[in-house]
Amino acid sequence: MKLEKFSIGTGDRFSHQGEAQLRAILKANSKGVGISPVWNKSNREHIYVNSKPEDVRKEADSAVQSLNFTGRYFVDADHINLKTVKPYVSSADFFTLDVASFIGNESSEEEEDKFLSSCKKYLGELSIPGISEPLRITEDLLRNIAGKFLAATQQAADIYAYLKTKKGAGNFITEVSMDEVESPQTPVEMLFILKMLADRNVPVQTIAPKFSGRFNKGVDYVGNLAQFEKEFEEDVLVIDFAVKEFGLPGELKLSVHSGSDKFSIYPIMSKIIRKYDKGLHLKTAGTTWLEEVIGLAMAGGEALTLAKKIYARSYNRKDELCAPYADVIDIDAARLPSIEEVNQWSSEKFTNTLRHIPGHPDYNSDFRQLIHVAYKVAAELGSEYTDSLKKYAAIIGACVEENIYDRHLKRLFNL
Ligand SMILES: [Zn+2]
Repeated sequence: MKLEKFSIGTGDRFSHQGEAQLRAILKANSKGVGISPVWNKSNREHIYVNSKPEDVRKEADSAVQSLNFTGRYFVDADHINLKTVKPYVSSADFFTLDVASFIGNESSEEEEDKFLSSCKKYLGELSIPGISEPLRITEDLLRNIAGKFLAATQQAADIYAYLKTKKGAGNFITEVSMDEVESPQTPVEMLFILKMLADRNVPVQTIAPKFSGRFNKGVDYVGNLAQFEKEFEEDVLVIDFAVKEFGLPGELKLSVHSGSDKFSIYPIMSKIIRKYDKGLHLKTAGTTWLEEVIGLAMAGGEALTLAKKIYARSYNRKDELCAPYADVIDIDAARLPSIEEVNQWSSEKFTNTLRHIPGHPDYNSDFRQLIHVAYKVAAELGSEYTDSLKKYAAIIGACVEENIYDRHLKRLFNL
């Protein structure tokens, strides 16, 4: 089972926007891009909105059917581990094995020695085609990498082995993710992580490292763009080398867990994947939920009132809602408008404040991040929220489609 060269992981908290998301992808594909849509949802999201893995499968199948999409599409059990994977086995065909929490766990001295002796041939200067400076590989470096990643890659192998017995080899896509950590993995670490995965027979097809910089939820990248470019380019080249050297699947590509809307790195990724003719998996559009709130606000009347109610409740429960996302948001509470103020807002003012148009005078990234983490509030509103999604489906769907096509796909693929 293979992804297209390009694939987009689209999140959809409430499972109402599958068709709108697919319309955006069809529009890009009609211009010759060829993107596999991947509907992804993490265990945490399922818990907050009280949904089941099968719901994502139903959403994907029904969107594909009603729009007559004939390409390959997938359902991603996003960020699963051995404890959480079971309910996803039957409905998902893409599994993101999250082994970040195993980074730095101890492994046996025997394992370490075995790894080190298998790397002897790389000691000294290692040239990776395309990277100008050779990598300097020392025993200390290898020991350090072993200490960080042997246990994590073993964990990936254990989850993969479980899935292989349940689904059969070749019947699912394997992604390995290490992105939800403090410190980024360097390209040389990436190289040896891939060797470890190959040694353990994990046929990894997409790999999601942690890059430098802040990937806050729903807002643009914050960090050094030149540094990102260097890292991304070296990762692409390291992967190319690793595929040939370690016999990993030829289609192996980077997966960027963007946390949505990292517009300023899109041109960089676009340039590099073109330069080397490589693929990319981009997880984005967790902000589809924000487009729902934008669509409601645009609709005005009772729908605008509902959008304001969501903000008011989010504002009052800020600490609780932000806590699970502390590492991936930066909200300046002083920049959040008061509930009274927002209650006076027009549709236009509300949508302009929330919509991600960097540089727009009304855009407020603090307001946006708070609502981004507040989907639990909407989930608690139950049918009051989901009935509104149905009632205002046309206006919301247009927002969702425009967001993915105009703000994401156009930037990433130069459409
Ligand atoms: Zn992630």
